[in-house]
This record gives sequence, structure tokens and C-alpha cells, in this order.
Amino acid sequence: MVKLTAPVTPSWISANERAFANRQAGRTVTLIAAGVYQCPSSKADGTVYTQRILNVGQLQATCDCPHGQHGTAGHCWHSAALAAEVRRVSRLRPSAEEAARKMARFAGR
Ligand SMILES: [Zn+2]
Repeated sequence: MVKLTAPVTPSWISANERAFANRQAGRTVTLIAAGVYQCPSSKADGTVYTQRILNVGQLQATCDCPHGQHGTAGHCWHSAALAAEVRRVSRLRPSAEEAARKMARFAGR
């Protein structure tokens, strides 16, 4: 079992809110190669930034945006690329119906 934790600080909350606003505005990351994502700048000026996943298990990635250049890993909203990579490599959770069907064989034991 792998347990991921993140300190829920005010900056984490505001970053989360910015990420949500970006998603609402259609600014999402796109997988362009193995472990490489791109996304538009939140300034909507046509700039595209590139994120490279270094270690998805340790939630490490780089980003060539101004924030990412200052070594503040995870402090730019482009860490959405990490979230996308985690989703991509994660097994899908079974639906409630599928889980119930699989567990039914244990009924009556
Ligand atoms: Zn960035």
C-alpha cells in the first residue's frame, strides 16, 4: 500500500483553487510523449509550457515556466501534469456494480 500525503497549507489551497480555475477555463495538460506533457500558460497569451515527469512515485517533475525555473517544484499549476500522469499509470477503480458482483461469490460462506 502506497500512502500519499500533502500538507494542506494556505498556499496549497490557493494553488488548488488556481488549478481548478484553469481547468474550468479549458487549460489542461496534454500528453505529447512518454512522460512529457504540455499546457498553455494561464495568461492565455499563446505560450505553451512543457512538463517532464522525473519520478511519478515521488511526484517529481520539471516545468519550464517561470515558476518552475525557480526550483519551486509543485508551486506552478503545471503540476497538473503530475496529476495526469498519476491518473494515466493508475489502475481504474472498479465500479460499485463490478465490485459487488466480484464480492458476491463470498456471500453465504
Ligand atoms: Zn509550470
